[in-house]
Formats: sequence, structure tokens, C-alpha cells
Amino acid sequence: MSGRTELIEQVQAAKFACRCCGACCSGADNEVMVTPDEVEVLMQATGLAFADIAEPYPDWMEYPDGTKITFGWVLRRGADGNCMFLKENRCSIYASRPHICRTYPFMLDGEELIISECPAVGCSRSVDAEETADALLCRRDAEDAEFQESETQYQKHSIASGSTVIIDSRGVHLWK
Ligand code: SF4
Ligand code: SF4
Repeated sequence: MSGRTELIEQVQAAKFACRCCGACCSGADNEVMVTPDEVEVLMQATGLAFADIAEPYPDWMEYPDGTKITFGWVLRRGADGNCMFLKENRCSIYASRPHICRTYPFMLDGEELIISECPAVGCSRSVDAEETADALLCRRDAEDAEFQESETQYQKHSIASGSTVIIDSRGVHLWK
């Protein structure tokens, strides 16, 4: 596991300070995976229903009998193709934003710090590295827990032939 101190140093060395350009919230590549817990936070923050906020992760496994299965959820996009919460190039649910958004452009792949494309990497000042490192460790724990519990749900449920379902940490959900 990446030590917190090493992670802080790595984040500092990246010299990242967000320019709020909105690029990571927009366009066809914008795919924000969210856990059911995160959707629940957004439901409380916005008053919207689960299905208004999230849609199935679009990587369906399709079987010869017509059964379709995917794991997890992504934030919905607006008609413009951008994240539905991007308003006037700003995040309208900033205080409640999901782990991915709190940590972009960083992510942990096991022990390795991955840095995605972003114009604000390599600038002269740095984001609060301690806060970002803690957010990264928190995100990894949440993602690991979501993955493991989703696997458990998959193993313990039998899925009706021909159905379309989403599996997450809370169970198996029929989709229209
Ligand atoms: S993280 Fe990078 S891509 Fe995203 S808004 Fe900030 S500067 Fe733009
Ligand atoms: S939730 Fe906010 S930070 Fe995350 S992609 Fe949408 S607008 Fe961007």
C-alpha cells in the first residue's frame, strides 16, 4: 500500500492546481463512476431521484440468451453531453462531488499513483497535497469495498435469463 507520506510527496511533485477549465467534466470521455452511497449523497443534496442522477455503467456483458449485465453506475450527462452537474463551467454540486471528482487528475492503481491528462499538472503551485492524498486513500478504500461487495452480490444472486440488470454493492437491480 502506498504510504501516506510518499503519496503526499508524489502529489506535491506533480505541481497540480486546478484551473477550473471544465475539461474533465465535459465531452464524450467524461464518465464518472459513482457508488450507490455517492448517489445517495447527491440525492440528498439535490432532491433528485436515483435514476435522475445515475445510469448504468455502459460496459454491458451480453449473453446468447439475451441477458445483459453491468456493474455499477455513472453520472448522467446533460443534453450537451457534459456532466449533468456542470453549470456555466462550474460544478454545481461541488461540496457533494464524488470521489473521482475530488481526486482528479489523480488516481491510485493499487500502490501506483496515476496522473491523467490535465492542463494544470506541472504548474508552479500545488493543490493541498495532504488533503488530496487523504482523498485518494479514501477513494481507493471505497472503490475496493464497492468492488468486493458487488462481487459478493453477483455470486449470491441467480439472474433470470433474458433480464437486464445492474449489480452493485447493494444488490442486483432490474433495468428496463
Ligand atoms: S482538473 Fe484539470 S481538466 Fe479538470 S477542471 Fe481542473 S484543470 Fe481542467
Ligand atoms: S460532478 Fe462536478 S466535478 Fe464531477 S464531473 Fe460533474 S461537474 Fe465535474
